[in-house]
Amino acid sequence: MEQINERTQLLNDKEIREDAKYVMYWMQIFKRTHDNHALKFAIEKANELDLPLVVYEGLKFYYPWASDRIHTFILEGVEEKRKEFEKIGATYLFYLQKDDDSPKQTVKKIAEDAALIVTDDFPCFIIPKHNQAIVEKADIPVYAVDSNGIIPMSKFEKEEYAAYTIRPKIKKILDDYLVPFEDVELENKKTNIEVDCPDTKVTSDNIADLVAECDIDHDVKPSPIYHGGTKNGRKRLKKFIEEILPNYDETRNKPEVDGSSRLSSYLHFGFLSALEVALAVKDSDASEDSKEAYLEELIVRRELSYNFTKFNDKYDSLEALPNWVQETMREHVDDEREEIYSLEQLENCETYDELWNATQREMNETGEVHNYVRMLWGKLVIQWTENYEDAFVILEHLNNKYCLDGRNPNSYAGILWCFGKHDRPWMEREIFGKMRYMTSKSTGKKFGSKKYIEWTKSLKDNPKLPDTK
Ligand SMILES: Cc1cc2nc3c(=O)[nH]c(=O)nc-3n(C[C@H](O)[C@H](O)[C@H](O)COP(=O)(O)OP(=O)(O)OC[C@H]3O[C@@H](n4cnc5c(N)ncnc54)[C@H](O)[C@@H]3O)c2cc1C
Repeated sequence: MEQINERTQLLNDKEIREDAKYVMYWMQIFKRTHDNHALKFAIEKANELDLPLVVYEGLKFYYPWASDRIHTFILEGVEEKRKEFEKIGATYLFYLQKDDDSPKQTVKKIAEDAALIVTDDFPCFIIPKHNQAIVEKADIPVYAVDSNGIIPMSKFEKEEYAAYTIRPKIKKILDDYLVPFEDVELENKKTNIEVDCPDTKVTSDNIADLVAECDIDHDVKPSPIYHGGTKNGRKRLKKFIEEILPNYDETRNKPEVDGSSRLSSYLHFGFLSALEVALAVKDSDASEDSKEAYLEELIVRRELSYNFTKFNDKYDSLEALPNWVQETMREHVDDEREEIYSLEQLENCETYDELWNATQREMNETGEVHNYVRMLWGKLVIQWTENYEDAFVILEHLNNKYCLDGRNPNSYAGILWCFGKHDRPWMEREIFGKMRYMTSKSTGKKFGSKKYIEWTKSLKDNPKLPDTK
């Protein structure tokens, strides 16, 4: 593995194919045609070799938690990308692999006529394994490009301990990176290269039918509120900048109003880049307090999560927790839990705690949960399960199954934060030991919890976001 530049790694030592027909970009998670360092690198390579570009995006049926909800959100971004790639002059292929009888090994087949492969470098979930697998199969160079955040992940040499350790490092170099993206034009334009791979035509009219034909979890329904794609992401960004950001420093902790950006799903699937969002915030007329509060979340907390999953290969387990948590868990593992709920009870919002039930209901009905109550949601499950491992497994499962922004570095950093990751020891108590403790009673007093609970109950018949005030 060789670091080619601050965003790019060469994952093997193979030679470029001499008689290649194109350069291949395997778009896995940066699902956009703008502000995309991986696409830019692929275009630069195509220009260097005077070859056209083939962009491949596949959606398989067997990734963990595959459902109508996640599939629909991804498919909603396909048609607009096809049009954008027409304009760029690249051949774009989208393949929906519906079930076990559908053609397989498409990446390998497309690679057979490629000079080299460019892939997305995402530090979590199935993507590192995909990249490892293609390196094992490919006889051409494979480059992985990091287009995750504003600061390249390579700028940090090791796992950061907490926000306070990464923040000064980010602040020092942020001005160099918080600048508009410079696009490169593809020189050898060809949009209809014949490639040995099925190409699924996706339009807004056939998404529901396509999803119904896939061998995935049909019980998790598409979100009636959040719709995928860059256009929809930009629509939400515009509303956020114009109507919500001016009061963000006050409204972001009010789950009963539409007071935060609700952009995490667009960021997770790469429909929007963090750079585009950060520049829109920076250039807005909002107060410095609101801008600073927002950029702290979007840059410091988000980059901390990506740094965590990149450098800690135990990121999806309790083993990633610091020593003080390991110690306090050992001391409190046998503490009596007064109430134990099964996964089914939790999933069905059947606890004694109305506020907790509301957070799970928001998740089930919309595909998102507000940050403020998401912390409470995670904390309470720790006291309602037999042990810490069970709590982690349930939280990971519910978060990744129902939330569109799940399966992301923020998912793991967020869930483990509930167990003390990136936090500090607090006053010792039962079950939680020295982990920070939260209760519905005190949390619910800090915002309009009754209004929030009522809103979640109205979602089934009237799925819409609350008002901005
Ligand atoms: C138990 C738990 C689970 C979580 N799971 C996820 C998850 O699966 N996916 C996810 O993106 N976030 C997760 N978070 C972090 C946070 O709750 C969400 O990012 C936030 O709710 C998204 O809403 P928003 O876009 O309106 O946020 P805003 O307040 O508008 O923030 C803007 C952006 O900053 C980033 N951000 C905000 N808060 C955090 C944070 N605490 N850590 C890292 N980045 C942050 C997100 O990309 C977000 O879109 C989790 C937090 C907890 C406590």
